[in-house]
Amino acid sequence: MLYSENKEQAGEYLRSALNYITQYGLAATPLNYTVWYEYASGKNNNLKKAIEHLINNNKTLDDGILRQFYQAYIIDGHRTVTAKALSEIKKIITDISSCVVDAKGEFTDHDNKLQSISTELNRADDFYSLNIILDKMTSEIKGIIQSGQDLNGRMAESSGELKALREELEKAQQAAETDVLTGLANRRKFKKALDCEIKKAVDNKTSLSLIMADIDFFKRINDTFGHLTGDSVLKALAALFQKQLKGKDLASRFGGEEFMLMLPETSLENAYTVAEQLRSALAGKSWKQKASGKSMGKITISLGVAQYKQGESKKSFIERVDKALYFAKQNGRNRVASEKDLESK
Ligand code: GH3
Ligand code: MG
Ligand code: MG
Repeated sequence: MLYSENKEQAGEYLRSALNYITQYGLAATPLNYTVWYEYASGKNNNLKKAIEHLINNNKTLDDGILRQFYQAYIIDGHRTVTAKALSEIKKIITDISSCVVDAKGEFTDHDNKLQSISTELNRADDFYSLNIILDKMTSEIKGIIQSGQDLNGRMAESSGELKALREELEKAQQAAETDVLTGLANRRKFKKALDCEIKKAVDNKTSLSLIMADIDFFKRINDTFGHLTGDSVLKALAALFQKQLKGKDLASRFGGEEFMLMLPETSLENAYTVAEQLRSALAGKSWKQKASGKSMGKITISLGVAQYKQGESKKSFIERVDKALYFAKQNGRNRVASEKDLESK
């Protein structure tokens, strides 16, 4: 599903989504938001029908059902966009080839006529017959130009259709790879980008590092200040990561309150420094709940750092950075641990 609404509309959909979540006693998870947001926007027809069917029949609407709807009507919806694009591309190709066949027929007719004019030319022996031949040639050339123009026009149309299709696909792909709450790359995009960077690190023998960050005692933040405030914290953290990372680095939301930062061409030591900067930037900040003005105290994160080892799988790389993060948690939180800390254990 593409999101093209303006700020006010989006705010309205979000408020409706929250009302539905409260009304049906559901958890305020990003997944549930997404489903109700799409429902509120009224643009996802199949989802709307499925939800209304349950409501009208007084059936239960719980987290499990919403997860199923998310899979069926939102994730698979992206597949529908791809399938639709494929069928449109096929249609455009059919159009182009029929234009080419038509044009070929027309040009063959012109060619036949030119051949017959050339035969007539062999027999022409006076001004009168030469004039007739010249008239015929002029008219034939006009015909050829016209056929060329028709073909041009039809090709311009097809190329316009292809351009619109490409733009639509790019938007759909962007939406499918973006986390709705924070606007960061989502887990799917991260994994795709990691595959690509691992290949580059192997081919060019360059270093590649990962930082995994997890909010400390986030459950407590939600329990004390509510899920909405928890969500604002996630958004603020995402903005901090975006601001601190540079160039080829990619910040992504890996899970609920876990972030994965990918740093190409960066050694373990340099990645450690970046992680430490992020940790201390956050630890120095005091938080306030916007709505109430209440102080929220400090919010800290723990971070794990690992560098790609030539030849290892993506899975093993992610497991190592996850272990480093776990080590940071085990050793008191609000700290950075690297894979080296695990070795010296
Ligand atoms: P630790 O320091 O060990 O990481 O403790 P923690 O409380 O952060 O860890 P735990 O894994 O127990 O809890 C994570 C919490 O994150 C639980 C879940 O409700 C919350 N969470 C996950 N995703 C979201 C979200 O999108 N929004 C909000 N507000 N909370 C979320
Ligand atoms: Mg966690
Ligand atoms: Mg946590």
